[in-house]
Amino acid sequence: MKTVGLIGGMSWESTATYYRLINQGIRNRCGGLHSAKMLLYSVDFAEIEELQSSGRWQEAGLLLAEAATRLERGGAELLLICTNTMHKVADQVTAAVTIPLLHIAAATGTKVAADNIERVGLLGTRFTMEENFYRGVLETRFGLRVVVPPAEDRRLVDEVIFAELCRGVIAEGSKKQYLRIADSLAAQGCEAIILGCTEIALLIRPEDTELKFYDTTEIHAQQAVAMMLEL
Ligand code: GLU
Repeated sequence: MKTVGLIGGMSWESTATYYRLINQGIRNRCGGLHSAKMLLYSVDFAEIEELQSSGRWQEAGLLLAEAATRLERGGAELLLICTNTMHKVADQVTAAVTIPLLHIAAATGTKVAADNIERVGLLGTRFTMEENFYRGVLETRFGLRVVVPPAEDRRLVDEVIFAELCRGVIAEGSKKQYLRIADSLAAQGCEAIILGCTEIALLIRPEDTELKFYDTTEIHAQQAVAMMLEL
């Protein structure tokens, strides 16, 4: 089994899910008392969020590159950045290490395209929904047609992530709003919705709706397990 290195804490609410899912994945595949060989570098999310909202991505990239270097030095053989948004600085991170990075948008795109989905809705932070670093991977590498909500709804989705989900707050009203927004993406012809933020599955669950969701946290963790076991 390879040792996986997680750059986490963005937020720790979803990093806890990664820890559980990767361990469960290893146990399901290997049985018995097997568990994941894993290193975690967990950042202070307040520092990251401050850099994001003031547009200081280069500095944020340096911080994550440093985390990646430490993980590699500690013995990690494979790297995960446990957030969709911070893949905006994925190139800075990969340039700092020799171990491979499992890119969350590539992992997700592979899964969505394998299901023959062509038109997909995307929910995430404003950075993930509005910029090209994430959508670009889905569109150019996997030929997906990506649809995001209108500006007002994008603001709401982003606000709920930072003001609630990353602080461990799960609110029924926000769940209703997310489901309404997902429904309106489906009404625009989206065959499925990508939960492009690692905390969204803490709010909406498959049993809440008939819509098809792709949970990026789960996909990322599952593909990490496959890489760790060289499946
Ligand atoms: N975890 C979130 C994501 O997947 C948002 C937190 C962040 O801005 O990194 O994008």
